[in-house]
Amino acid sequence: RGDSTIADRTVDSVCPYCGVGCQLTYHVKDDTILHVSGRDGPANRNRLCVKGRFGFDYPRHPSRLTLPLIRREGVPKGLDPDFDPANPTTHFREASWEEALELAAKGLVGLKEAHGPDALAGFGSAKCSNEEAWLFQKLVRTGFGSNHVDHCTRLCHASSVAALMECIGSGAVTASFMQASQADVVILTGCNPTVNHPVAATFFKQAAKRGTKLIVIDPRGQALGAYAHKTLRFTPGSDVALFNAMLNVIVTEELFDSTYIAEHTQGFEALKTHAVDMTPEAMSGLCGIAPQDIREVARLYANADRAMIFWGMGISQHTHGTDNARCLISLALACGHTGRPGTGLHPLRGQNNVQGASDAGLIPMVLPDYQPVGDAQLRSAFEELWNTPLDDKPGLTVVEIVHAIHDGQIKGMYILGENPAMSDPDLDHARAALAKLEHLVVQDLFVTETAQFADVILPASSWPEKDGTVTNTNRQVQMGRKAVPLPGEAKPDWWIIQQIAQRFGLPWNYAHPREVFAEMTQGMPSLANISWERVEREDSVTYPCPGEDEPGFDIVFSDAFPTPSGKARFSPTRPLPPDEPLDDNYPTVLTTGRQLEHWHTGSMTRRTQVLDALEPQAVASLAPGELERLGLRPGERLTITTRRGEIELIARVDPLMPEGMVFVPFCYVEAAANLLTNPALDPYGKIPEFKYAACRLRPAEAR
Ligand code: SF4
Repeated sequence: RGDSTIADRTVDSVCPYCGVGCQLTYHVKDDTILHVSGRDGPANRNRLCVKGRFGFDYPRHPSRLTLPLIRREGVPKGLDPDFDPANPTTHFREASWEEALELAAKGLVGLKEAHGPDALAGFGSAKCSNEEAWLFQKLVRTGFGSNHVDHCTRLCHASSVAALMECIGSGAVTASFMQASQADVVILTGCNPTVNHPVAATFFKQAAKRGTKLIVIDPRGQALGAYAHKTLRFTPGSDVALFNAMLNVIVTEELFDSTYIAEHTQGFEALKTHAVDMTPEAMSGLCGIAPQDIREVARLYANADRAMIFWGMGISQHTHGTDNARCLISLALACGHTGRPGTGLHPLRGQNNVQGASDAGLIPMVLPDYQPVGDAQLRSAFEELWNTPLDDKPGLTVVEIVHAIHDGQIKGMYILGENPAMSDPDLDHARAALAKLEHLVVQDLFVTETAQFADVILPASSWPEKDGTVTNTNRQVQMGRKAVPLPGEAKPDWWIIQQIAQRFGLPWNYAHPREVFAEMTQGMPSLANISWERVEREDSVTYPCPGEDEPGFDIVFSDAFPTPSGKARFSPTRPLPPDEPLDDNYPTVLTTGRQLEHWHTGSMTRRTQVLDALEPQAVASLAPGELERLGLRPGERLTITTRRGEIELIARVDPLMPEGMVFVPFCYVEAAANLLTNPALDPYGKIPEFKYAACRLRPAEAR
């Protein structure tokens, strides 16, 4: 459109929002991003969604942090309704970097000396680059001296990763979403790609138009339903019953792939025995799907020559999230639908770098590349690399850390880019924990809700202000490049982490993220044949990669799985009810998630003019009949109550919602959905049940 003539330069990079990992170009004039265009990246082919295209003015928002801040004496920790993030000096005083870093580190070091390494914990972020994630977990492990390091993967796909590691020995996708175009059948379950992975959704639509049969399995309807060959809208929380019924059909009708099962799997006989009584008739009452529909979908999937399964947080964010993923893996293994073009298992990763941050070790029970902390041999390799003894005990996870603060164990935290005062379940409990910390250091772009609990706030770098690699949902390691300078005295995140590490006595002396990446390649076999220079040159390199001059594998596990036997294993599961059943007092299902325009807790997108203008206020989506039952019209105010809290927000009619359910996005601090959510955890992935809480609805009282 000729706009490039206005810009004085362009910089190629990657979108900072979702796990699709669209490549883009910033058009920059006078150190300001004028606009953004899509590039021909392997995951986007020039496409961008509304966030990627318009979500780039947040770094210059008036409330951007440009100086370190230190809490003023006597100001209580917590969310003060009168606090103005654009004028934080009412609660915090500005400080030099030297003073802020000294105070930040001194508080953490002092707590370690007084109470031992288990008194400290750290939250990194999936918004970090790979290098920042690596440095952060290394600081916690070698400086703090424990494995109490986690990040938002715990709140999104931890259960998927637990199931994948258990069953196939790898937590990443077995094939990119581009393989959908080669599939005969694609199952999309517990995901809403049009909203959460918008550019991936465009490829699903194209596949459907070319003949791929899309099967959408979800309690809620969605835009992709218009392209679906078949849609199953099951009773919320009954996923395991439905998937077991599909397995029953595959077993009893002998639709499985005996050759694949014999060559590539273990435990199929146990699965057969397990599935035999879970007939569609027996499960239909639980999942609300007619037996003939279950049979039809099971046959479609099993009889397809090539079929894929994609899933999202509707699968993972349950107390039975790991069981849900185990079922999906069993379906694929039973039918031999992995390891070939057009087949695979693909948990659609949420944040731009949740795959990379997890790979880099921001997980409490594993070192980088999912190497268990309890394995002496694997641990010793890192002890050698980092020249420090490491803790052999798995650390605490996100919600466990909150409990450990209340219990008095964790006394100090360093939080980089995460916003648990908005993202954790049962927020009153989580916020009370943050207030109880004796020392909290927050590194972020803004005085987020979490930063309002901090003792020291360190002004960080936004994505367009730094160099770094990220890894998307397709296992593609991609290069993000600095396009604009940092404002004021804000600093690159890797530099800030290094400053804290040095004050813990660690001899770190990195001069650029490329040096960190080089160290990562020494500890992460997944990065074999991938160097910073190569990613810089090629923009995107898929792992695993067989050679320095060869492309990485889009499809993995064609010959063997990365398990001791080389075989995958079935893990049978039984249906369990949601943790919090409905009753007369709380008769409606509350489910939470994201909107197309807003990103996670909204710290970036609610400070983006276009995105905030499109979705400016907190809304709850309900079926037309549900609104009618409440005597409400769209736009009127609604109160939602659970056993943990109450919020008031605007009711929106959504014909795709089932009756008996309400959907609330979790990005609005003025009506924070997570005040309501249930903190009960999946026992394996330790992920909370964000997708199901019992609630009560009523019209809001007149103001
Ligand atoms: Fe960014 Fe995801 Fe949108 Fe692509 S689909 S532009 S990665 S938010």
